[in-house]
Amino acid sequence: MRQIAIVGSGPAGYYTAEAAVKQWGEDVHVDIFDALPVPFGLIRSGVAPDHQSIKGVSRRYEATAQSDNVRFVGHINVGTDVTVAELQELYDAVILATGAPGDRKLGLAGEDLPNVFGSAAFVGWYNGHPNFADLDPALSHDTAVVIGNGNVALDVARILAKSRDEFAGSDIVSHALDALHASTIRRIVILGRRGPHQIAMTPKELGELGKLARACPRVDRADLPDAALDDSLEPGTRKSVGHLRTFAANEAPCSEKDVVIEFDFFASPRAILGEDRVDAVEVERTRLDDGRAVGTGEVYRVEAGLVISCIGYQTSPIAEVPYDAKNGRFANEDGRIAPGLYCVGWARRGPTGTIGTNRPDGFAIIEKVAADIGEGATKPGRPGFEALAARKGLDFIKFTDWQKIDEAEIANAREGSPREKFVQVDHMIGTLGRKQPDPAK
Ligand code: NAP
Repeated sequence: MRQIAIVGSGPAGYYTAEAAVKQWGEDVHVDIFDALPVPFGLIRSGVAPDHQSIKGVSRRYEATAQSDNVRFVGHINVGTDVTVAELQELYDAVILATGAPGDRKLGLAGEDLPNVFGSAAFVGWYNGHPNFADLDPALSHDTAVVIGNGNVALDVARILAKSRDEFAGSDIVSHALDALHASTIRRIVILGRRGPHQIAMTPKELGELGKLARACPRVDRADLPDAALDDSLEPGTRKSVGHLRTFAANEAPCSEKDVVIEFDFFASPRAILGEDRVDAVEVERTRLDDGRAVGTGEVYRVEAGLVISCIGYQTSPIAEVPYDAKNGRFANEDGRIAPGLYCVGWARRGPTGTIGTNRPDGFAIIEKVAADIGEGATKPGRPGFEALAARKGLDFIKFTDWQKIDEAEIANAREGSPREKFVQVDHMIGTLGRKQPDPAK
């Protein structure tokens, strides 16, 4: 029997569990730990609330979760409640699938001004992540700046631009829906430090901007390279650039819409300006030099009362686990960190790729674990963890507990919405009729 601990119950965690069950059948026990009482990580807290079809992948994880040899161990913070070393005593392999929940910093003056947020915080707010539910962004000015040219920048711009009716069928949390409905933002400027050919936006997501009820994307055609050069792009980017060309050609419909989403290419933020709160971004015009953005010395201001930087994520360090600060992930060689300790998904490779990319990643790490641990040692696994939890007074959440939380969220849904998420950990736990958790936890 192999005893495997997976830390993190997002896509990388569940695909790895699926791979472990495929690899060893009955001869494995997998415990999936999560700091929250609720599973599915990025699917619940990262994927946009109006992208319900993407969230549907959690049904596949449910099937894995309900297999007899896989167990959810929620509301246990690995690193504080239990250490990685303690888990290594109990399991043949500990696999960190903790994703990349922290924001990469811009490293600019003014970044810490009120109403400047990283995308992890802002996305966490509208998705009801307990760490960010109280963010309370002010949406009471005319212009928001979104920094970055990836899919997260698109998510954030789209969420800021949508009308209340366009959130029908989504699971956006009510506090965000109400705040967005009252928002006075009418101009959303997406800053890209490079040009249209260098965007990291995928066609489906970019195309959505052209179909919004009250908002319209605007691209300056002067920013677009000669159309013949699009042939050199890989097909996805070529399609995305095609959308930009359509947006550039269709300026007229913007006059009929309340909100404009402006693409400002070759625009690198230099500083966030403001006294008590952000009121502008200082931007330098760039040009491309061998694919890299270099400043031209032309500097201008974009007045804005809200700034959201969507420039990528980083893995949160865990005590005593080697960390690669430059790349914002655990220090590893093809997923191996140290004997018996592994990482997978964004925690291994950084925040790139689609949700599906984590599946081959999970299978690859299990192949390595299989080669390393053979038949497995005689580690105690689950009963050992239960004894440790009892000694430490840790009351963990099982998958059946999550199913009760899930039912309560579904029952609380506004009309047309799949669920109303609990946004506080004590409310999640309160559903189970257990005593409230220690507030110091
Ligand atoms: P991303 O795709 O890596 O994009 C980050 C963007 O930030 C790039 O345009 C990058 O520009 C820019 N950037 C980085 N540092 C910067 C700086 N200092 N100043 C200005 N701009 C800077 O990251 P992401 O948007 O966070 O997405 C993460 C992953 O999740 C991606 O794989 C994405 O496709 C995926 N995702 C998918 C979906 C979906 O499929 N619906 C939704 C959300 C996220 P450079 O290129 O110049 O470095």
